[in-house]
Amino acid sequence: MPENRTEISELGEFGLIERLNQDVILRNPSTLKGIGDDAAVIEAGDHVKVVTTDLLIEGVHFDLSYAPLTHVGFKAVAVNVSDIAAMNAIPTQITVSIALSNRFSVEAVEDLYAGINAACEHYGVDLVGGDTTASRGGLVISVTAIGEAQKDQVSYRSGAKVNDILCVTGDLGSALIGLQILEREKQVYLANPDMKPDLEKYDVVTGRQLKPDARMDIIHELREMDIVPTSMMDVSDGLASEIFHICKASNVGALIYEDKLPIDKQTFDTAVELNLDPITCVLNGGEDYELLFTIDQKDFAKLEKHPDIHFIGHMTKAEEGKFLVTKSGTAVQLKAQGWKHF
Ligand code: ADP
Ligand code: MG
Repeated sequence: MPENRTEISELGEFGLIERLNQDVILRNPSTLKGIGDDAAVIEAGDHVKVVTTDLLIEGVHFDLSYAPLTHVGFKAVAVNVSDIAAMNAIPTQITVSIALSNRFSVEAVEDLYAGINAACEHYGVDLVGGDTTASRGGLVISVTAIGEAQKDQVSYRSGAKVNDILCVTGDLGSALIGLQILEREKQVYLANPDMKPDLEKYDVVTGRQLKPDARMDIIHELREMDIVPTSMMDVSDGLASEIFHICKASNVGALIYEDKLPIDKQTFDTAVELNLDPITCVLNGGEDYELLFTIDQKDFAKLEKHPDIHFIGHMTKAEEGKFLVTKSGTAVQLKAQGWKHF
């Protein structure tokens, strides 16, 4: 045992990754971007390949008492495709590795793969390999996704400039609210198994939690409009936390407006029902898998009328900090609470 023991919770997930990254040396000139973005970027002839990986653990990332295995399979692919989208790239291949305990039957694994195959069809990617092994605990799924882009099409987290417009797709906070509902109904069921949970009223939020869709539609539309976001990432840990990442990587500040933040009606109503502040859910809810990106002002007119892209603020000088202007007009400092695993 080393004498100095540091708890992982002291550094947090991002602090730990930063610490590990200090000792990483890139040796190949083809590695254009290593650790630190949504995906790594690798030179491949006249274009680039992007590579990302995500690990899903039963009991941490999903709960099989309410998440059907087909949805878990779909989600495992979608969250990786979302990171490929976040680079402004097109996904092409995935590998899937699973660890299984003897609790799982062949039919259960087939259900998982039905979801994986449905996602492959939906995103137009090929499943090209993986690994299968035993697990002492529950189910573990690791997906790696590969994508392609032209070199000058790639959007890094680091490209935002002062006065760029900050955009977000879809709406935020729904997946967090969906999780709260599913957890609540699970407790109700455990207390009284005869009670049949009535989830119909919550279809949007539970759907967003159980079966998120990566926003490849937006990536294709941006291409058609000839827009390359100056920076981009996906919203997996919460909007505020992601804004902090873009600001840090790009060395800029941000000013966002509460009244511009997109929230779905069912999400808003359910948040209120759960005694949660809807805006806090929008700012800090995890697993939205929407895209957060910045565009140059010159591209605004092309996107202005888009029904599913919201202009939530703009980038400022780094020394101006990161602020949220509330509905009453006061500027409050943004806090990156994020989604803490540790
Ligand atoms: P995302 O939420 O987009 O999946 P993460 O926050 O998980 O990104 O990771 C941020 C960056 O750190 C990524 O570039 C990722 O590849 C890298 N990373 C995460 N964990 C590790 C690890 N254990 N070793 C090396 N790189 C890691
Ligand atoms: Mg990401």
